[in-house]
Amino acid sequence: MLPPVASRFVAGESAAAVLEHARRENDRGVGVICNHLGEHYHERAPADADTVAYERLIRDIGASELRACVSVKPSQLGLSVDESVFRENLARVVAAGAEHGVFVWVDMEDHTTVDATLDTFEEYARGPRGAVHHGTSERRGREQGGMGLCLQSNLRRTADDLRRLADCPGKVRLVKGAYDPPAEVAYTEKSQVNEAYREDLEYMFREFDDGIAVGSHDPAMLTRAADLHADYGTPYEVQMLMGVRERAQNDLARTCDVWQYAPYGTSWPAYFRRRLLERKENALFALRAIASG
Ligand code: FAD
Repeated sequence: MLPPVASRFVAGESAAAVLEHARRENDRGVGVICNHLGEHYHERAPADADTVAYERLIRDIGASELRACVSVKPSQLGLSVDESVFRENLARVVAAGAEHGVFVWVDMEDHTTVDATLDTFEEYARGPRGAVHHGTSERRGREQGGMGLCLQSNLRRTADDLRRLADCPGKVRLVKGAYDPPAEVAYTEKSQVNEAYREDLEYMFREFDDGIAVGSHDPAMLTRAADLHADYGTPYEVQMLMGVRERAQNDLARTCDVWQYAPYGTSWPAYFRRRLLERKENALFALRAIASG
């Protein structure tokens, strides 16, 4: 069972729990990106099982009034087993999204997976079940389905990848990058990553007509996005993690489109540990919660 201390960052262990969480967040004006926890499968069975779980979740979201969508990890759908398994499973999830009008995000994992993830995403997004093209803001609601991909500004290649996706249907979620790639392929200084993020954001606001997701909690990057929106007029959404700067999420939701990434599932311990380790304040929060019983 999910202990109360983990429930700040994880919506629960079941699909019903994340849908209930989505209902509460929707009431506060925040959309919810549901992530069924699971990654790095080296056998086909769990990848197939998670694909089925996503198909069911998408059907449930489609049958509800919720402003909710899903986000999948390539290694969860079988990329570490074989690229063909990932392609097959992602095709099923995307087909379910198209059938039930639910948007499908694809997370980005470590730098060795970018080519396979990007190639597959691009092929499906440009295909008949992909997304509505950049420039049609109608797909921004929950009804339209469509696809989006996460790109990481700490990778040197990302400026080129953004150019490649500029005319591709679908959205791009820009993040700084949660993995630790080597210096040959990545900016390793925080200041370099921040600079790259600023430049990538500017490119997106300039060249994309729509489909921009700012995946960051950084007030400086959120201000940057608001300034770019004022300059270029391009619509955008902000995405943040469940349990992180939630007051800011609520405040922002009054003036802009805000989506919260909410993980759920029985594999929560590894995810919870990552959240605690990435920030001193999160670890202190957990210690205080445990100490107060
Ligand atoms: P940081 O550079 O970590 O911090 C900058 C500033 O932001 C801090 O000084 C502080 O002011 C504020 N801040 C940051 N965190 C907190 C906090 N916990 N509490 C209070 N203030 C805080 N990474 C991937 O590699 N692949 C993905 O698919 C992916 N998907 C993501 C989806 C979403 C919706 C989000 C929000 C992040 C995702 N990430 C992903 C993680 C991302 O790459 C970063 O590791 C993470 O968001 C931290 O970077 P940051 O821009 O939020 O701010």
